[in-house]
Parts: sequence; structure tokens; C-alpha cells
Amino acid sequence: MENLFDLGIIGGGPAGYSAAIRAAQKGLSVILFEKNSMGGVCLNRGCIPTKTILHCSDVYKSMKKAEKFGINTGEISYSYEKIFNRKNEVVEKLQKSLIKLVQSYGVLIISAEAKLNAPDKIEADGRIYNCKSIILSTGSKPAKIKGLEADGNFILTSDDILNLNNLPQNLLIIGSGAIGVEWARIFSAFDCEVTVVEAADRLLPAADTDISKRLERLFKKSKIKFYTSAKVDSIDDRVVTLSNLQILTPDIILCAAGREPVIPQGLDFEKDGRFIKVNENFQTNFANIYALGDLNGKLQLAHSAVHQALGVVDYITEKKEIHFDKTRVPSVIYGTPEIAWVGKTEEMLQGCEYKVSIFPVSALGKAFADDEIDGFVKVLSVAGKIVGAHVVCPEASSLIHQFALMIDNCLKTDEILNTVFAHPTYSEAIFEAILGLDNMSLSLPRL
Ligand SMILES: Cc1cc2nc3c(=O)[nH]c(=O)nc-3n(C[C@H](O)[C@H](O)[C@H](O)COP(=O)(O)OP(=O)(O)OC[C@H]3O[C@@H](n4cnc5c(N)ncnc54)[C@H](O)[C@@H]3O)c2cc1C
Repeated sequence: MENLFDLGIIGGGPAGYSAAIRAAQKGLSVILFEKNSMGGVCLNRGCIPTKTILHCSDVYKSMKKAEKFGINTGEISYSYEKIFNRKNEVVEKLQKSLIKLVQSYGVLIISAEAKLNAPDKIEADGRIYNCKSIILSTGSKPAKIKGLEADGNFILTSDDILNLNNLPQNLLIIGSGAIGVEWARIFSAFDCEVTVVEAADRLLPAADTDISKRLERLFKKSKIKFYTSAKVDSIDDRVVTLSNLQILTPDIILCAAGREPVIPQGLDFEKDGRFIKVNENFQTNFANIYALGDLNGKLQLAHSAVHQALGVVDYITEKKEIHFDKTRVPSVIYGTPEIAWVGKTEEMLQGCEYKVSIFPVSALGKAFADDEIDGFVKVLSVAGKIVGAHVVCPEASSLIHQFALMIDNCLKTDEILNTVFAHPTYSEAIFEAILGLDNMSLSLPRL
């Protein structure tokens, strides 16, 4: 049959391109359709551009502290235009290498919008492609919120904000999830006045409550204003009234409250809320069609999408069942200090017997050397095994993987404590926090 492929993939974000590479490695013939830019939201409008700008804000923030470290710099300033251009260069370079990488595996990339004609037929650019299996990895876009419809001028989405090439003086951010918190930290580091409004009763509602409390303290320290249990009531001529009757007059509003799926046209998929419903092997109501990443709404993170992709290709090629547990996927909030968690929160453990230990990084020599003493490592254990970790600390984005390994491999705490942790490092806080489960931390005074 003409145009016959083992696997057709719609969407070239982290889920799509990872599935394409893995399937090609396993000997499948693969075709991938991307209507916009390879790399998806992650590379073009998410992880990479935001972290590129965030790194610049971190450099600027550290340089402002230089004198404290005995470094003379003279007056420090920044050019947001240069930062903006650098962000575009980074994205462009990574995009070119990604296309070469995917093509090096013999994957055919079609730059066009694809739709489904039948459960084994994809149509794009007026041609029909027959595919034995199909992966939908079409991702998500900023959710439309009534009364906060983006106009690209005063009310912006997380896509629009990346196109600003100069900074507002005064910014209002709606939502304190990862996106809202990261932009609050970026803009505040660049000396903008930032206010965050969160409908839940605490910042970062998906995190453990101790993280939310510490973030409140960090926001106060950075002079980021915030209102929890609050919503926008009305916007009248750029004057914003909140449900708690606060009146704000921001230059712009960033609406960072939720994302909705991008569902390809053609077939009638069963839904789970707004997202495509999948079973434990990520199959949709059509057995040969799988829905991965942001599209299935399980967890909107790039590494979760990649992990799902590898699992699904193994399922297609070897019928290896998938056991996806979203609590085992690390979450990271970037900025200074980094925030990360994996496994269970204390709230999830209510009703079962568990131990908790919180080790403050202020007890570490390394933290004093770096002047980064505001943070902690919190660990939770059940029956001698680590079940959750919640970290606010420099390098938290890397440290968290030590805990992910412990949890995934069900390591016992006494086995973990046989490992030698180098000094002086932030990893020592992991060792100390685990010792603390039995009140045996070496760097904390006797209770
Ligand atoms: C501001 C921001 C910051 C973020 N930061 C992080 C972070 O630090 N870490 C992290 O893990 N996650 C982060 N994320 C989330 C992350 O970007 C997503 O979870 C990830 O991109 C999802 O990957 P995906 O492959 O499911 O979909 P996407 O990356 O959304 O890719 C889907 C692709 O499908 C294409 N497509 C859609 N429909 C069609 C069609 N009909 N035909 C052809 N192509 C189609 C789209 O053009 C797109 O390229 C961030 C998101 C945002 C918005």
C-alpha cells in the first residue's frame, strides 16, 4: 500500500519527537506531522524560552549582590531587548538541532496540519497517509477564561508574554502555578512591581503546604505582592477590582491560569473533562490511537510527556504494560531558590503512619558560603522507605532526582544512609534530612 507507515505521530513536541526517535530506534517506519515549529510548546513557548530569560534574571540578581561577595562591578543594568534576542537565538539553535536529530533516525517530518480521516488514516496537505498505529501528541494551549480573554495588549497569555521586547513597570499575574510563579520571579528580579492573584487559599496549590508557606515568605522578601483566595471581579478601563475589593492598576496582566487541550479534527474521541480520555496504556477509545502528553491532561510537564512516549512505544512494539504514576514525576519551579518535589505530600499521607523530617539549608556550610540560606529539604517516609520529598534550595532541580531514584527503587533509608554524600554540597541536606527521620541529624542541635 502506498504511504504506509508503522507509526504516524501528530505533533512534534516532547511527546511526539521522543516517540518518533524511540520508535525508529526499534525499527518502525515513522512519519511525524507538525503544523507549527518542531519542539512544541516546550521548546518554542514554554520550558526553554522561559528558562533562558529566567537565567538572565538570575545573573542580574546575583550581580546586584556582587558587592556582598567582595566583587566590584560598577553600576549594573540590563537590556531586555538583548535578553529577548538571546532567547530567540537559543530557541532557533535548539530547533535546528532537533530537526536534524529526528531526521537522523529516518523519521519523515511533514510540516503541515494533520487530521484523522479514519482510525488508521491521517490527512495532511491533501494527501492520505496510512498508519498502523497513531500517536496524538498535539499538546495544549492557554485556557480561555471568562472575563480575562487575552487581547495581546493588556491581557496576555504565556505565549504573548514571550513576545514582549520591553518590560512593564507593573504586572499583575493571575494564577500561582509553575508558570505564574516563574514569571513573577523573572519580572521581580528585573525590578518590576509584581502582584500575583491566586484563587486557592495558598500559593502553588499543587505543592506540599510547607512549600507554599516558604514561597509566601520568599515572595515577601522579594517584594512580590500576592492575594490568595482571590479572583478578578471586574476590569474596567484597565482598572482591576479583585473579589477581596483590592483595586489594582497594572500595565499588563498575565493570565497564567490553566491550559486546554489541542484536539486534532476528524474522529470522535471520548473525553475526560476537556482532555482526551485514555486507559492505563494511553489508548483512546480507538485501540490503535494513543494520546500523550498535555493532550491527555494527566500532568502537563515535558518530561512526563517524554516518559509516556517511551512507555507507549514499548507497548506498541512489545505489548509491555505501562504503570504511569504521576506522583513519581518530579515537579520543578525555577528561580531563586529552586523548588522541587516528587512523591507524596503530607496531605496525601493523612490516615497512614508516616515520619517527617525537615532539614533547614541554613545548617549547611555550603549555603552560608553561597549566601543562600533560605530553604529546606523535607522528607516523608513510610515503613522505612522514602515516599515523598519537597525541596526549596539552590540546585533543587537536580537534587530532586536523588529522591526520585530512591522512591522508584523503593530504597530503604538505612541503605541510602550507607552512601557517602560529599561536603560541602546541598546534597548533604538530603543525607541530613533522612537522618532526621530518626532525630539523628548531625548538624542540628539536640531537641
Ligand atoms: C510558559 C511555560 C513554561 C513551561 N515550563 C516547563 C518546564 O520548565 N518544565 C516542564 O517540564 N514543562 C514546562 N512546561 C510545559 C511543557 O511545555 C509541556 O508539558 C510540553 O510541551 C507538552 O508536550 P507535548 O508534546 O504534549 O505537547 P506540545 O509541546 O504542546 O506540542 C504539541 C505540538 O503539536 C503540534 N500540533 C497540534 N495540532 C496539530 C495538528 N493537527 N497537526 C500537526 N501538528 C499539530 C503543535 O504545533 C505543537 O508543536 C511549560 C509550559 C509553558 C506554557
